[in-house]
Amino acid sequence: MIEYENLRKVNEILFERYSESFDAFLKSGWYILGNNVTRFEEKFAHYCNTGFCIGVASGLDALILALDACDFPKGSEVIVPSNTYIATILAIVRSGYKPVLVEPNIQSYTIDPAKIENKISKSTKAILVVHLYGKACDMDPIMHIARKHDLAVIEDCAQAHGARYKGQKVGSFGIGCFSFYPTKNLGALGDAGAITCSDAEFAGKIRALRNYGSHKKYYNDYIGYNSRLDEVQAGFLLIKLELLENITQHKRTLAKIYLEQLDRYVITPVINPDYFDVYHIFNIRHQERDVLKTFLLQNDIKTEVHYPIPPHKQQALQGILSGQYPISEEIHETTLSLPISYAHTREDILRVCEVVNAFK
Ligand SMILES: *Cc1c(COP(=O)(O)O)cnc(C)c1O
Repeated sequence: MIEYENLRKVNEILFERYSESFDAFLKSGWYILGNNVTRFEEKFAHYCNTGFCIGVASGLDALILALDACDFPKGSEVIVPSNTYIATILAIVRSGYKPVLVEPNIQSYTIDPAKIENKISKSTKAILVVHLYGKACDMDPIMHIARKHDLAVIEDCAQAHGARYKGQKVGSFGIGCFSFYPTKNLGALGDAGAITCSDAEFAGKIRALRNYGSHKKYYNDYIGYNSRLDEVQAGFLLIKLELLENITQHKRTLAKIYLEQLDRYVITPVINPDYFDVYHIFNIRHQERDVLKTFLLQNDIKTEVHYPIPPHKQQALQGILSGQYPISEEIHETTLSLPISYAHTREDILRVCEVVNAFK
């Protein structure tokens, strides 16, 4: 069986170092916001080429705190792609704003910059881009539109640690929101997230928000949260971060095999020299996606669908999202994610290619 993901295998080579880190944590007697969190924040800010990094409890919280810290008037509109994971939309709603969906580009699966401007109204305050599947969005036109209309740029980087656009890392264009959920390219062993930014004052506000809105113990400046990056997870993340370049390289090598071997009766991800893709997900598209998925499973290959239901069709968002999003629906109906983890080998991928090609 070729699994889609095996988290034990992905983390196995780090078990010993994780144990050491946990042991040191245990004996330190300091369990919340300690040295691991501080060191990880410094290292991750450096990794992303940003001035600041603030660790929080999850990717969803990173988005909520970032949006909340922007302090837009209630009901402000936030532009967001129609084909994102629902967490991006939930964060906008939770922060008291209104999500305004923009269709993606059918080739890159990321927000189509050409469709942003006619969704901008007097109430629009931000563009929340999502670097989906590990590919950066087309940032030049997006930054241009944001400057022209004086909009904040928030980046959902949950699937794109280390991805680059024209050499620049995601999370350094605007306010970066990261998830370190165990399956992500930089995955902890539990929930964890972070926000990156370049403005010291904004960083300070996020730092307060994650800790009850307090800069100084028992003095509360904001209606805050308890959303601190856990000290144990920060310890694991410090170790995992050293491996991230290897993980990225491994995934890129596997993606290259897919791109070389897969027959083009399936649609494969686009590649463009301006983009350094990190392949959190390697998706293909096919009109008979479900039949192909079953065929692969019959041949002992597990796959996933990211995602089966677009946000505007979710029960939770009825009455909040409206409109027609045919491109998004087309992607959701035809996309299939093939195995591409740090634990997969060249042989695994060649076998997946063989079976996909045999389906034709
Ligand atoms: C995983 C993910 C999130 C949420 O991150 P959590 O840490 O699970 O809260 C948000 N946006 C996208 C695009 C994601 O893939």
